[in-house]
Amino acid sequence: ADIAVEAAKQQGRNTWQWYEGDERRNISEHALLRHDLYTALCENQFELYYQPIVDAVSGRIRSVEALVRWHHPRHGLVSPGIFIPIAEQTGQIIPLGRWVLRQACQNLADLHAKGERVFPVAVNISSLQFRRDGFLDELRRILDETGLPSELLELEMTESILLGGAKQAIEMIRTLRGMNITVAIDDFGTGFSSLSYLRDLPIHKIKLDRAFIRDMLTNHSNAAIVQGIIAMAHHMGLVVVAEGVEEHEQQQDLIRRGCDLLQGFHFAKPMPLESLRALPDLLPVDPA
Ligand code: C2E
Ligand code: MG
Ligand code: MG
Ligand code: MG
Repeated sequence: ADIAVEAAKQQGRNTWQWYEGDERRNISEHALLRHDLYTALCENQFELYYQPIVDAVSGRIRSVEALVRWHHPRHGLVSPGIFIPIAEQTGQIIPLGRWVLRQACQNLADLHAKGERVFPVAVNISSLQFRRDGFLDELRRILDETGLPSELLELEMTESILLGGAKQAIEMIRTLRGMNITVAIDDFGTGFSSLSYLRDLPIHKIKLDRAFIRDMLTNHSNAAIVQGIIAMAHHMGLVVVAEGVEEHEQQQDLIRRGCDLLQGFHFAKPMPLESLRALPDLLPVDPA
C-alpha cells in the first residue's frame, strides 16, 4: 500500500503542464516514459523475469537473477536498460526497487512454502536505494513479511555504492553478511575500479561484465583481464560469475580459466516465473 501512496505523491509533483501545447510534439520519448513510470507501479505493469546462473562445469542451476520487465500499455515490453536510469533520475527507483525486492522474495518464498525446488535469488539494488536511510530496515521487514530465508537472498550492486562514502557501504555490507545475505559486485571491471576497495569490501562474489566476455575469444587483452580478475578474486576467496555467455566456446574458455559460475543466453534467457519452474536442473539442454 505504501508503494501506491508514494507513487501517487510523486505523481502529484509532476503534472501534465510539462506536456501542454506544441511542446508536446517535441517531447522526447524519454520524457514520456518518465511520465508513464509514475503510474506503472499502481497499475501493476511490472513483472519479474528470472535468469538462471549455472555451475560453469556441470551446468547445474545454482541461483537465479531477478530482472524487472515493464509491460508498457502502448510500447509493449520496455527494457530496464532504458527505464532504470530514468527511475534513478526521478527517484522512482525507490518505490520500484522496493517492489522488486518484495516481489522476488515473495515469489521464491511461495515456491519454498509449496515444497517446490528453490534457488537463491539475486536482486539488483540501485546504489541510490542502497544508500538511502532505512534500506536495511526495509530489507529486514520484507524478509520477515515474505518469510524468505535470508540465505536464499543475494544482492547485486555496482561499485557506485562506494561513491557516497566507502566506510558506510562497508559497514552495511558487513551487516548484510551477518544476516547471511550474499553480496555480489555487478558489472565488475566497468566502474571506477580502484582495486584496493575490493580488499575492504566484505562481499562474496563478483560478476564479470558482459563486455569482457563478449570478445574474450578474439581480443587477447580482454582475455587477459578476465584471467587476471579470476585469479585475483580467487586469492581473495571470492566467487566469480561471468555474465553474457552466449556460446559453448565461451563456456569452455571460462572453464579453462577457472570461472565458477556462468550466466547467459547459452544457458537460458530471463523468463517468467512459470517458465523457470519448468526448467530442468541442468543447462543447457542438449538437443535430443
Ligand atoms: P545486469 O544486472 O548486469 O543484468 C544482466 C543483463 O544482461 C540483463 O539485461 C540480462 O537479460 C542480460 N543478459 C544476460 N545474459 C545475456 C547474454 O548472453 N547476452 C546478452 N546480450 N545479454 C544478456 P536486462 O534484463 O535488460 O537488464 C539490464 C540492466 O538493468 C541490468 O543489468 C541491471 O543493471 C538493470 N536492472 C534490471 N532489473 C533491475 C532491477 O530490478 N533493479 C535495478 N536497480 N536494476 C535492474
Ligand atoms: Mg545484475
Ligand atoms: Mg551485470
Ligand atoms: Mg550488466
